[in-house]
Amino acid sequence: MRNFFCIALLFSGIFVDSTAQSHYPGQHAGKFKVADQLKPVVSAFDLKDVKLLDSRFTQNMVREQKWLSSIDTKRMLHSFQTNAGIYSGNEGGYFDTKKLGGWESLDCELRGHSTGHIMSGLAFMYASTGDEQYKIKGDSLVKGLGQVQKALNQNGYLSAYPQELINRNLAGKKVWAPWYTLHKIFAGLMDQYLYCDNQQALEIASGMASWAYQKLKPVGAAQRSLMLRNEFGGINESFYNLYAITGNPESKWLAAFFYHNEMLDPLKEGKDILNKKHANTYIPKLLGLARNYELEGTGDGHQVADFFWQTVVDHHSFATGSNSDKEKFFEPDHQSEHLTGHTSESCNVYNMLKLTRHLYCQSGDVKYADFYEKALYNHILGQQDPQTGMVSYFLPMLPGAHKVYSTPENSFWCCVGSGFENQAKYGEAIYYHNDHSVFVNLFIPSIINWAEKGVAVKQETDFPKTGKTVFTIEKSGQANWTLSIRNPSWAAGKAHVTINGKALKLNEKSGGYLNLERRWKAGDKIEVNFPMELGSVATNDNPNMVAFTYGPIVLAGDMGTKGFVGSEPYSDPSKYNDYYTYNYNVPEDLQKTLAVDPKNLKSSVQVTDPDQLVFKVNKEGVVLRPLYDIHRSRYVVYWNVH
Ligand SMILES: [Zn+2]
Repeated sequence: MRNFFCIALLFSGIFVDSTAQSHYPGQHAGKFKVADQLKPVVSAFDLKDVKLLDSRFTQNMVREQKWLSSIDTKRMLHSFQTNAGIYSGNEGGYFDTKKLGGWESLDCELRGHSTGHIMSGLAFMYASTGDEQYKIKGDSLVKGLGQVQKALNQNGYLSAYPQELINRNLAGKKVWAPWYTLHKIFAGLMDQYLYCDNQQALEIASGMASWAYQKLKPVGAAQRSLMLRNEFGGINESFYNLYAITGNPESKWLAAFFYHNEMLDPLKEGKDILNKKHANTYIPKLLGLARNYELEGTGDGHQVADFFWQTVVDHHSFATGSNSDKEKFFEPDHQSEHLTGHTSESCNVYNMLKLTRHLYCQSGDVKYADFYEKALYNHILGQQDPQTGMVSYFLPMLPGAHKVYSTPENSFWCCVGSGFENQAKYGEAIYYHNDHSVFVNLFIPSIINWAEKGVAVKQETDFPKTGKTVFTIEKSGQANWTLSIRNPSWAAGKAHVTINGKALKLNEKSGGYLNLERRWKAGDKIEVNFPMELGSVATNDNPNMVAFTYGPIVLAGDMGTKGFVGSEPYSDPSKYNDYYTYNYNVPEDLQKTLAVDPKNLKSSVQVTDPDQLVFKVNKEGVVLRPLYDIHRSRYVVYWNVH
C-alpha cells in the first residue's frame, strides 16, 4: 500500500456428505455468541489440528520464527506508549529503546500496523507449533497495549497515533490510512483471543469498538462516503467477527458502516470495474461481504464475492496467481503490457487467499483449491529470502528483474506485515472436512488430527518434485469415512492410486476429488500419483508471451546477478520506499526470447536436476527452475517465444 496522499505518484462430485482474525467456517468452536446461519459445504480445521512435517514450508517457518523472536516487545509498544505519554524508559525511551524504522517510524502515519500483524503472526505460530514462547510474547504485547489504552483514556481508543488522523480522514483531508492501521490492531487482538484464548485481547478490542461506535455514529452519509475513499483494510470483516464473538450489535452496525457500496454494488451487476482500482484496498472489502454472508446465511454474498474472485483470477492475474501493477488492477486481459518491475503486491495475494478460503468453505468448489495452490507456491512460498528471512513487496514480472527484500530495521512495509502472517500459517489450507470426509487440498507433508471423529492421517510427499503422495491412516475413527484427495487441474492424465499396495480402479467422473470411502484401519496406506508435465501459460492478450510451468509450479529463467549494484537485491534503507521506484538495471543483452514451441516443450526443454526441478532450454542454454527457489538473482517469468 502506498501513501497516495503524501506523494503525487503515487470442489464436486463428493460422495458425501465446523474457527486472523482469520476465522473460517468450522473454526474456533465455543468462542462465538452469534452462530453462522450458513451451513458450510466444507469446514476448515483449526490451525492447531495440523502438524507440519519437514518441508520447504517448515524451513520458511523456522526463519519466520527467528524474525518474530528478534523484535523486542518494547520496541513494538514504543510508538503506542509515546502516543499515550507513557514513561517508556529514560527520557521517553530514546536511550533505552531502539526505535523501529521504515513504516514504523514515529513520523510515519501508518505506525502501529506491524504490532497488529505481529500479534496475528504470534497467534498463528503458537497454533501451528504449540510452542509457549509465542503465546508468552503475544501476552506481553496485549498487556502493554492494555496499559496504553488505559493511559490514553479516550473511550477505548488505542493507536500509535493520535485521533487527529481519524479526524482528518473524516474531514476528507490528507492522511495515509488510519482505519487500515486500526484494522491490523483489531485483527491482531482478535487472533490473540481466537488462537491463544487471551481474554484481555478481546476486552481491549471491545473497548476499541466502543470508541469507534461513538466516533462514527454521528457521521452522516456524505462524510461517510468521503471517509470510505481512504484505504481501510479488512476492518468491516473484523467488526463482523467481533459481533459474532460478543453479540454486541454496535459491532454489527460498524461492520455495515464500512460496507463500501460504491465499490461493491457494481459487482452485483456483474461489472468488472477493477481497472485502475487499488487492489489491496478493494480485495478486503469482499472479505467483509463474504463473512457477512456466512453470518446471515442468505443473500447474494457468495455470488458477488465469487464474481469478483473469478474476475481477478481470469482477467487480472499473472501465471503466478498474483495481480496488479504498481498496486493497481489494470485493464482486463492486458497482462503483456504490464510486465513491469512493480507487479504483484504480496498483500494482494495474502487477501486473495483469505477470500479463496471463505469461498471454498461456502461452496466446496475445487477451483478455489487449485488457485490456492498456485498462488501459495508461486508467490507466498517464494516471498521470503532463504538467506535472511526478509520478504519482498512485489513479485516483479519485468524480464530480468529480481525480488527486492526488506531490511530488518528500515522497511516494515505492509507486505512485511502480512508476511508475518503468511509464513506462520502454512498448515491452514491443506485439509478441510464435512461430516463424513476429510478433504486433502494441498500436498504438503503434515499430519491432520480430526479429534471429533478420532481420525488422524499422515501425509508424506516430495511434491512438487514428484506427483506422488503417501497417506497413512494413523487413527481410523469409529465408522466409515471418505478420504477425498484433490485431483488437481494440472494433472497430466489419470491418477494412479494404490491402497495397501493394491491398485485401485477409479471412477473417471470424480468431479475434482478422488473419493476413497472405507472402514479404514490404523496403518492403512494410500499412495496417489498424479502425472506431472511441463506446460505453458500465455498472457491473455499475447499468445507469444509465455510462462513455463511444471504441474502448478511456475518455472522461471535463472538469469544471474550481472549488473547488480549497491545494496541489490535488498532495499536500500537510505532511499524512500525504493521498491516502488527501483531501477533494476537489467542488462541490455539479457535473454528474453526463446525459440521454443510451447505446444511441444519436450522437444526443446529437458530436465537436468529432477531433485531440484531444474530444467534447461536446449538451444539457448537458459536454466529454468521454480520461481519460488530463485533468490538474489535476476529472473524471467514471461518469455517472448517464436
Ligand atoms: Zn503490501
